[in-house]
Amino acid sequence: MAVQFQILGSSSSGNCALLTTENCKILIDAGFSGRQLCNLLESCGESRDNIDAIFLTHEHSDHSRGIGGLCRNGPFKVFANHGTAGAVQAKLNRRVGWQLFETGGSFRYRDLEVTAFSVPHDACDPVGFVFRQVGENGAQSQKTVAWCTDLGHLSHLVKERLRQADILVLEANYETRLLDEDHRRPWSVKQRIKSRHGHLSNDATLEYLQNAEETSWKKVFLAHLSKDCNEVSLLENRLKTVLPYIENTEAFQVSVVDPTNGLMPACMV
Ligand SMILES: [Zn+2]
Ligand SMILES: [Zn+2]
Repeated sequence: MAVQFQILGSSSSGNCALLTTENCKILIDAGFSGRQLCNLLESCGESRDNIDAIFLTHEHSDHSRGIGGLCRNGPFKVFANHGTAGAVQAKLNRRVGWQLFETGGSFRYRDLEVTAFSVPHDACDPVGFVFRQVGENGAQSQKTVAWCTDLGHLSHLVKERLRQADILVLEANYETRLLDEDHRRPWSVKQRIKSRHGHLSNDATLEYLQNAEETSWKKVFLAHLSKDCNEVSLLENRLKTVLPYIENTEAFQVSVVDPTNGLMPACMV
């Protein structure tokens, strides 16, 4: 059974993806309003009622904004670690069906093995996810999706987790020159974005793609672009200069997710 994956949107303003396996349909992050999420789901032929659970990376609103709205008609199962659940629940006046997990561990949800790994970012306990489809008898398939946005640098642990993914979603948040030239953000915010607990620059992400070894990637999405401090065409052009140096590059495709309209076609592995 194939795994189907579709990004509904990804930028500094909102992030969400839909993952469908034989036995479940889940959202990864819910960083749009409940109404927007319902509309996005409708545009890909889905509905809120068919979603079994939501998996949250961290509490920032561009990842958790829709939780309250989606839980309006009854609590949803929302998987998060203790820190993220506490921070999101504190801003809500309705109960969420929290399903708590430990950062660093793996657990089963229906036919998925979920690994939540720690990422360096300025939130309570931010994580990235690896979702691996598990067949009957617990046999693992090689169908794996990694979702990793919002991190200041690529630690050894993170690189190891991402290497094994068939579908990889990785942040490319800002172009350093555009962030430096930006007049809207005060110096302190720019420093936070650039810090080791902020966001990944185009330089950092492209360098990682260029130097990663023994990857399983078939499809790579560069995501969580800043609308002000990055540009799709600029990143695509920079990617073209790097691709010839990437080992095994014919094995996978790279797409840049437009921060103004990130609804991507569904892909299967
Ligand atoms: Zn974010
Ligand atoms: Zn964040």
